[in-house]
Amino acid sequence: MSERRGFFKELLGWGAAAAWAAPVVGAASPAAAQTPSPSSAPGKSAPGRKLGVALVGLGSLSEHQIAPALFQKTKLCKLAGLVSGHPDKAMQWAKRYGVPEKNVYSYQTFDQIKNNPDIDIVYVVLPNSMHAEYTIRAAKAGKHVLCEKPMAISVKECDQMIAACKAAGRKLAIGYRLHFEPNNLELARLAREKTLGAVKVIEASAGFPIDDPTQWRLDKKLSGGGSLMDIGIYALQAARYISGEEPTSVSAQMSITDPVKFKPGVDESVLFTLKFPSGIVANCASSYGTGLNRFRASAQRGWFEVQPALNYEGIKGRMRSEGGTPKDFDFPPVDHFAAEMDDFADCILNGKQTRVPGEEGRRDVRIMAAIYESAASGKRVAL
Ligand code: NDP
Repeated sequence: MSERRGFFKELLGWGAAAAWAAPVVGAASPAAAQTPSPSSAPGKSAPGRKLGVALVGLGSLSEHQIAPALFQKTKLCKLAGLVSGHPDKAMQWAKRYGVPEKNVYSYQTFDQIKNNPDIDIVYVVLPNSMHAEYTIRAAKAGKHVLCEKPMAISVKECDQMIAACKAAGRKLAIGYRLHFEPNNLELARLAREKTLGAVKVIEASAGFPIDDPTQWRLDKKLSGGGSLMDIGIYALQAARYISGEEPTSVSAQMSITDPVKFKPGVDESVLFTLKFPSGIVANCASSYGTGLNRFRASAQRGWFEVQPALNYEGIKGRMRSEGGTPKDFDFPPVDHFAAEMDDFADCILNGKQTRVPGEEGRRDVRIMAAIYESAASGKRVAL
């Protein structure tokens, strides 16, 4: 529990109004890059050198969000390596982003990355069931690891990933980009400071209608589940960072309206209720059948919410105190991925604790397993 309090204290540090006057990425001074700690970079860390990031898996997220952020926006790290099952695509990317050919790997040659001092961080952007293997291989190669959400498809895998990074003396962070998004952090701050009194009820919904029926997200071997693992995890996260507590029990129901698209073990929609120690209850929804995009907290004297809550751009927050009119939050836009990656680089360079460690990813994986268990049994599951 004390670890938990520490985590939210740090989260709230970022939620303080003054911190948002400047872009989040600016919070870590570029000067920090000039004073790497001896144990920070696995390769040579020349003064002022940006840490090198290798992307593993050149799919949609890497292409549209992560690579552009590393190319144009990050201050403490840059794109330095590419790992792909498609050599032609990887070579095109190498040309586009000025990555040397010697820093391009396949999944088979990936372990040779250990001999490459240009690469400090491996960012795992693969289907969920591959996260554990590549995180562990990267740690064994002496690299720090940023791994996309969900951390893995089982708690056992999470434990193995945490242990591998610990054994290698390397940092592990999970790609929870909303921990770097000011409107979401403001919800946590308002809840923690009880600005409108104590929060009583949280409603968090995340979903999108999934299209291509052949994609890995609908293949349990690669995804580990359905909408909950992929998008509902944001609702779970929101309930946890708004309440600032860990749930003590969960009840869930699952629904499939399209049995052709959604095979056993791959949920279409899941509704789940979390109960927290203080008595806060969170009603959450996850769906691959429809768009859901709102996190809202109702407190004793009003409410606050973000809607849209989890888009890459354009997240909007607002609050309303009892009897008043809704007031919009006013935060400058932040590139979530640039902020997340620069924060990780700052943690490495300056020996800081990441706010999104493997232990945080593990908590969600454990709760999601309980949500699936409850939906299958029809019973409340204690956590
Ligand atoms: P994509 O399907 O677009 O890309 C995945 C890539 O992984 C592929 O392009 C491929 O890259 C590689 N890959 C290796 N083996 C396989 C395989 N058997 N099947 C499919 N792909 C394979 O997925 P996304 O980029 O959307 O998602 C990747 C990860 O990022 C997921 O864990 C997802 O949850 C997470 N994500 C996070 C988001 C966020 O906001 N934080 C948003 C979207 C996704 P190559 O061809 O180079 O080998």
